[in-house]
Amino acid sequence: MRPSSLNPLFASAQSLSGIGPRLILLLKKCLALPPGVTEPRVADMLWHMPTGVIDRRAEPELAAAVPGTIVTLKLRVLKHKAPPRGNKKAPYKVTCEDDTGRIDLVFFHAERKFVEGQLPVGEVRYVSGRVEKYGEALQMAHPDYIVPPESRNELPMLEPVYPLTAGLSGKILLKAQRQALERVPEVDEWQQADWLGARHWPDFRTALTRVHRPLDAQDVSNGAAPWQRLAYDELLAGQLAFALVRQTSKIDRGRQISGNGNIRRKIEAALPFSLTGSQRTALGEIADDLAAPHRMLRLLQGDVGSGKTVVALLTMAVAVEAGAQAALMAPTEVLARQHLETIAPLAEAAGLRAALLTGREKGKARDAVLKHLASGDVDILIGTHAIFQPDVHFKDLAVAIIDEQHRFGVHQRLALQAKGNNEDTNVLVMTATPIPRTLLMTHYGDLDVSKLTEKPAGRKPIVTKAVPIESLERLIERIRVQLQEGAQVYWVCPLIESSEVVDLAAAEERFAYLRQLFGDQVGLLHGALAAKEKDETMSRFEAGQIKILVATTVIEVGVNVPNANIMVIEHAERFGLAQLHQLRGRVGRGTRESFCMLLYKAPLGETAGKRLAMMEETEDGFLIAETDLKLRGGGEILGARQSGTPGFRLADIPGSDQLLAAAHDDAALIIAQDPMLTSSRGQALRTLLYLFERDDAVRLFRVA
Ligand code: ADP
Ligand code: MG
Repeated sequence: MRPSSLNPLFASAQSLSGIGPRLILLLKKCLALPPGVTEPRVADMLWHMPTGVIDRRAEPELAAAVPGTIVTLKLRVLKHKAPPRGNKKAPYKVTCEDDTGRIDLVFFHAERKFVEGQLPVGEVRYVSGRVEKYGEALQMAHPDYIVPPESRNELPMLEPVYPLTAGLSGKILLKAQRQALERVPEVDEWQQADWLGARHWPDFRTALTRVHRPLDAQDVSNGAAPWQRLAYDELLAGQLAFALVRQTSKIDRGRQISGNGNIRRKIEAALPFSLTGSQRTALGEIADDLAAPHRMLRLLQGDVGSGKTVVALLTMAVAVEAGAQAALMAPTEVLARQHLETIAPLAEAAGLRAALLTGREKGKARDAVLKHLASGDVDILIGTHAIFQPDVHFKDLAVAIIDEQHRFGVHQRLALQAKGNNEDTNVLVMTATPIPRTLLMTHYGDLDVSKLTEKPAGRKPIVTKAVPIESLERLIERIRVQLQEGAQVYWVCPLIESSEVVDLAAAEERFAYLRQLFGDQVGLLHGALAAKEKDETMSRFEAGQIKILVATTVIEVGVNVPNANIMVIEHAERFGLAQLHQLRGRVGRGTRESFCMLLYKAPLGETAGKRLAMMEETEDGFLIAETDLKLRGGGEILGARQSGTPGFRLADIPGSDQLLAAAHDDAALIIAQDPMLTSSRGQALRTLLYLFERDDAVRLFRVA
């Protein structure tokens, strides 16, 4: 349970005065909310960090006020001068003075009543805003603040500036932020005193206060102590949550599975190739994990085409040899189906019973699969998200494999794991996108990692060329020659605008064009097609009846047609490197020389130019991933957008790598010394976990 002292922070932001149903909608646009949260809460306000400050601390007398600067003035109101009737353009002027001079406060389109109320003649007001020189006179147009002396301290002398959205004023946000700050309770310190001391980091509440009510312009900088401390808090919460999950999954005595190798031997004998060295190594690591008393949580990382599917199959075979079941989950239906097609003949040769479960299996067919699954008559299940449905029960699920993990969130991984009888299911996550270590740590904590570093023998390099769209006709002539030699082509048309419809139009248009040239050798594949049509098109492409497959990015993940050797990507400048690499990986799988043609529309931006040049230079997925990270920042690689993995809100700052590494080690140490978080620091750390909403993962494993 969340400590009750934190409850005020998790109330709706509507509980702040001044925030009603209309503003809550604007806040929703403007604040970064974690997935699943539909209404901004007080905490979300607190994590909305300023981007700078307006310094109002200059309090000159009028004679010394510097035009063009922001000042706070103490003024007596002398007289009001309304614009002449009928002249809407003329401003409303209020003349004020101090002992050294006069100034006109100027209001355009002002409501007379309002101005009169703000600035009653004869009274003193503190006024803050930008002074200007107008002819010889001083003036200030639309002061930012006008307050009576008794409210002087409401005037923010260092005013934090926040990212806003149309219709939401900084003043309103600031007022809400101040109330939000008042809700922050005193908490016991969860960081170690010497660690804080060495960095001159303040306590949590002070840190938040400094950022939202700065005493110094530096306070809102993301390199300064207050922000750094908060970033570290967020990172530590994440690392600690992972460490806890991981600890529990290891402590939970996983089942020890080790088969006799019978099924694996049969599968290997049926393979038309022998395994690569790194496939063998990975399989060895996996077998060791499965045989060990703890639960497996392993990431299998292998570039596109490195042969992960076979590793998955042989891993599942271990479960079956031990008398249990296994599941393989793919992110798309096309891919799930293709996995089944690849696996079915091998499974048959080895006497494995495989079944498919996607959103499309319905009615009787689905019932039959569910029945066989529950009775143990199906050994391995291949499917999509459909596997998560609550009425899917295994007799004894021992191994769960998730392919192309970046499409799924961590929660789904946990959900699949929970399909096992005792939540002791071993999990293998497979990804084609090389994930740099820092990202691995932020998204998964400490998974064990196996890597497929070798490509299967006989692969030829893929010749990659960036060409302007103007050269389309020349390209088509070359393709015509290639087709006569038996080549097959993927032709990808990307999302032009972020709308399915427009995306589709681009693909359809290209399809129509190519169809004129090549007739019915051209096929079209996109997300909006009925599932059956998708399958049909895909299998006609696999059978070589379709020579050119025009597609939206639905083919991005995992499709395997070894004879296809040309990849054409339109608007390549719009893709990220990781995605280009994934797409390119669809070719170069057979014996033909392979090509990847990156069509772009000139002129290329700097980043886009670098990306395409990088693609021409290398096929090294890891190098590409790292460069991608540099060029566009982290989230994209894991496809955070698709999976909705919560990003960091405070720690998304330059230099957070080092903080992350420290948080990682810190978390490991904490768990080693206080695995159940029962010490007094442990108790404080629980509060930290709740504060950053990392309690879910923890609760799932009944540790909290
Ligand atoms: P990915 O790692 O991208 O999922 P796949 O598992 O789809 O790669 O494998 C790509 C292709 O390589 C498939 O046609 C597969 O049969 C083939 N393959 C896998 N392992 C080997 C190997 N050891 N030797 C030769 N070909 C292999
Ligand atoms: Mg694959």
